[in-house]
Amino acid sequence: MCIFCDIIEKKIPSTAVYEDENVYCFNDINPVAPVHVLVVPKKHYEDIIDLASSADADKVLGDVSRAISKVAEINNLGEGFRVINNCREFGGQTVKHIHFHVIGGLKLTEKMI
Ligand code: 5GP
Ligand code: ZN
Repeated sequence: MCIFCDIIEKKIPSTAVYEDENVYCFNDINPVAPVHVLVVPKKHYEDIIDLASSADADKVLGDVSRAISKVAEINNLGEGFRVINNCREFGGQTVKHIHFHVIGGLKLTEKMI
């Protein structure tokens, strides 16, 4: 269905960081920080607007939040990190399968907001 579906189905290799029944977390191929993990619901939703219209939205976002917490624990990010979701063209989304970037491993200084 898309490149992340292929990664989730292990048709394309990736470096797994954490996985549970509903979420797959793997290293970004082009990291922007020492830790740059993509947290991806296994079911295909194009973006957060698409997910919001699904009956599964509460469950998926709960699962995502728990996976982010695991990724932070695994990577010793207790001092903090950033979670980014790029949505659609103006948000800079390039892969149309909802995902959350977990970025950390250093003190993030450049802030847009
Ligand atoms: P977006 O720009 O949609 O928010 O983020 C897509 C992210 O997916 C980018 O940071 C990009 O580096 C990453 N990415 C694209 N293709 C692959 C791939 O085949 N493998 C991995 N591990 N990451 C990918
Ligand atoms: Zn997909």
